[in-house]
Formats: sequence, C-alpha cells, structure tokens
Amino acid sequence: MSKGRLFVISGPSGAGKSTITKKIISLKDNLFLSTSVTTRKPRIGEIDGKDYYFYTKEKFIENIEKNNFIEYAKVHNNYYGTLKSEISEKLEMGKNIILEIDVQGGEQIKKQCSDAVLIFVKAPNKDELEKRLRSRNTDTEEVIELRLKNSLKELEYEKFYNEILINITIEDSLDKLSQIIDKYVTGGDIS
Ligand code: 5GP
Repeated sequence: MSKGRLFVISGPSGAGKSTITKKIISLKDNLFLSTSVTTRKPRIGEIDGKDYYFYTKEKFIENIEKNNFIEYAKVHNNYYGTLKSEISEKLEMGKNIILEIDVQGGEQIKKQCSDAVLIFVKAPNKDELEKRLRSRNTDTEEVIELRLKNSLKELEYEKFYNEILINITIEDSLDKLSQIIDKYVTGGDIS
C-alpha cells in the first residue's frame, strides 16, 4: 500500500483556513486532520483532545526535549506543535493528513518531508482580514492587533508554498482546495 500524503494549510489568522479545513475533512473520505498541541487557553466550546491537546508550558517543553514534535513554533505568544505520533502511523497506513499550522511550522515540515504539499490561504486584502478577525468575537482587542501585525510577517512566507488559495467565498475555496488535493493524491508532483 502506498503512503498517505501530507498537506499543510497555513495563512494569517482570520483568513478562513480553519473553516475551510474543517469542511474539506468532512467532504473527503481518506483525509484526516491532525490534532495539534498548544499552550494557549481553550476558547469557549473547545474540547481537549479534539480541537487541540491543551498542555501546560512545562509539559510542552518536556515534549520538545523528548523530541516528540515533528514541528513546533511560538505563535502569538503561545507554543503550538504537531506530535510525531499524530501523523506517522496514519501516513504509513495510507491515510492523507492535513496539518493546519503556522508558516514557521510549514517551513519545518517542508525541510523534513519534501513531498508534503504546502497550501497558503489568505483573505483578499487587509481590510477584509481585519473584518473577519473582528467578526469572530473570540479574541480581545490586544489579541486582534497582535494577529493583524503578525499577518504581515506571515504573508512573506507565501513564496515557499506550493499552492495559493485566495479565500473570497467558502464554496469557491472548497472547490479549489478539493481539486488541489485530488491532483496530489493521485500522484501529482510538487512543482
Ligand atoms: P489559534 O490559536 O487561532 O487556534 O491558532 C493560532 C495559529 O497557530 C494559527 O495560525 C494556527 O494555524 C497555528 N497552529 C495551530 N496548530 C499548530 C501547530 O501544531 N504548529 C504550528 N506551528 N502552528 C499551529
């Protein structure tokens, strides 16, 4: 049996990548979302082990020292990482996996897995990004400001990505993402 394909979805907070990722998982049979670890506090409604594994900073650092992460990064003042155990066995079993991670994590994955497909999701422009971040009603003004500031740095990583998806409407983005995934799952080369 051939190994599964690893997809990475990154892009500024508020660009819509979580929504698109969650929906594409439900549309594709052999596509699974990896659950990340974070040291940030759970938002209302988030479930430990489903949305994230919520670790203390001490536990996170312990796992860095044990070399348990395939990638990790500090994002918006918290640590986030992907456990090797979340993905290696599934890939071996032929399952395709999506990592929804930041651009620093994407860069680390690219170095270790040259056949991973990196997809960058962005909003059409800065004003629209700000509007989407505010309409989520999940973050404080301070957090929104930080995320907007970080989005400028994140956009600089766009050039390292294999595919760029400008998220105008969810339906259109889902169609395009579905085509991208099908192309690589059926053996498309990384260009
Ligand atoms: P949020 O706090 O909004 O859930 O996520 C903040 C940022 O952390 C997002 O850009 C998200 O993609 C990123 N992120 C989530 N999980 C991981 C991970 O495992 N590794 C890395 N490097 N970034 C992650």
